[in-house]
Amino acid sequence: MTPQIILANQKEFFLSNQTKPLKFRIKQLKILKTALKENEKYFYEAIYADFSKSKFETYATELSLVYSEINLAIKKLNKWAKPIKKSTNLANLPGKSFVLPEPLGSALIIGAWNYPYQLSLVPLVSALAAGNTVILKPSELSKNSSAIMAKVLNRVFIPEVVRVIEGGVKETQELLSMKFDKIFFTGSIPVGKKIYEAAAKNMTPVTLELGGKSPTFVLDDANIKMTAKRIVWGKFLNAGQTCVATDFILVDKKVEKNLLEELKNQINVQFPSFETIPENYVQIINERNFDRLLNLIEKDKIYFGGSADRAKRLIKPTILHNVSFVDEIMQDEIFGPLLPVISFENIEDAIEEVKKQSKPLALYVFSKNKRNIRKIHNELSFGGGAINDTVMHLTNHKLPFGGVGFSGQGNYHGYAGFQTFSHFKSILKKPFWFEPPLKYAPYSDKKIKWLKRLIE
Ligand code: NAD
Repeated sequence: MTPQIILANQKEFFLSNQTKPLKFRIKQLKILKTALKENEKYFYEAIYADFSKSKFETYATELSLVYSEINLAIKKLNKWAKPIKKSTNLANLPGKSFVLPEPLGSALIIGAWNYPYQLSLVPLVSALAAGNTVILKPSELSKNSSAIMAKVLNRVFIPEVVRVIEGGVKETQELLSMKFDKIFFTGSIPVGKKIYEAAAKNMTPVTLELGGKSPTFVLDDANIKMTAKRIVWGKFLNAGQTCVATDFILVDKKVEKNLLEELKNQINVQFPSFETIPENYVQIINERNFDRLLNLIEKDKIYFGGSADRAKRLIKPTILHNVSFVDEIMQDEIFGPLLPVISFENIEDAIEEVKKQSKPLALYVFSKNKRNIRKIHNELSFGGGAINDTVMHLTNHKLPFGGVGFSGQGNYHGYAGFQTFSHFKSILKKPFWFEPPLKYAPYSDKKIKWLKRLIE
């Protein structure tokens, strides 16, 4: 079946209203959960074949999030899909006002390779919960993970509701030339721009989950041991190939030495040699990225690490010090296990430097000083973040997840995901028995006086 025929069939199915009853939506979510449970073993094998991601990391950072989203949607759908009552303004009394959530229609979800399951399946859960049909195009770079999603989902869902289409740039461009009711994209900024442009031709609403350079501030009053522990975990998880990982550290000069030492200790504890426990090391996705990352390492700036194994595409967690904002590593998102540390003498200067960059997807602050934390939050715009932790904010489905400016637009997770794939129709309901004459012609000065009295 061509993508055009698949979409035409999905549109016809959507217009037949079959995706709208909550019972139908919950059934789709249960189908997904059962399919994942029954095939979990193959999902682990596929992602390991792609970039040697361990079973633990795959469960903790991918499948567990998908399961929680499914459970939450099943539990809350009744509440989310209900009409929302609103108060009514004087001019419309004794009317009633409410908002009706409705599915947008046929959605296209384009996934990224770095969390191939989570980034494809969490939006899929939201789209199905909201009553849409979906064409899912996972990333071709994680080809085994894409293949297992296609194999399993295309078997358990009818193609009128969910169809996984595999492919790269050419296939995605073909999909983008078609008219969807919603496009949800996760990936890089340059491709995000292309998606936005293609969507504009059909006035299709888009959600863009992009990347950027996420800073982590470490202030002089932070608990350095705990700070280092939490930064190292969030940074070297998935070999640094995480959109919300710390891209670089901005540390108060007074605690720089201490922090560097603790970062090193923590790497030794959490990520000891990749020769002895390779299962804890995620590979760099391909040779192009492996070479790109090695080129970013300036030898004289290595504080710790710096070694690599080309055959296995592994790079040792690496800390770089004496880094400045003009260095090459500070020009683009790193997306790998390299951690530059930049020190500052006063926090204003550090904030000014971050202001010069594009708005990041995440920002972290380690400190107990409420004034300084408030200052950073007040002066800098970013997608979301954490105080005294990294990455974990995205596991709380009560917090809408997304970027701002070049790090993206729109958000999802939990109810925010349901909203992203819904339109909210505003309705005013009037009774027949009452109608003040004020708004009707013929108009007069007396009427304007009354109107002014009501409005002003
Ligand atoms: P990418 O932009 O290269 O690819 C993403 C998707 O777009 C893939 O499915 C790919 O097939 C498709 N694609 C690639 N080139 C295309 C083109 N010219 N036209 C149409 N489609 C095209 O991104 P990636 O390398 O898979 O992911 C890494 C990037 O994604 C990083 O920048 C990272 O920060 C970002 N990211 C963001 C989030 C988030 O939630 N905000 C999550 C993960 C990754």
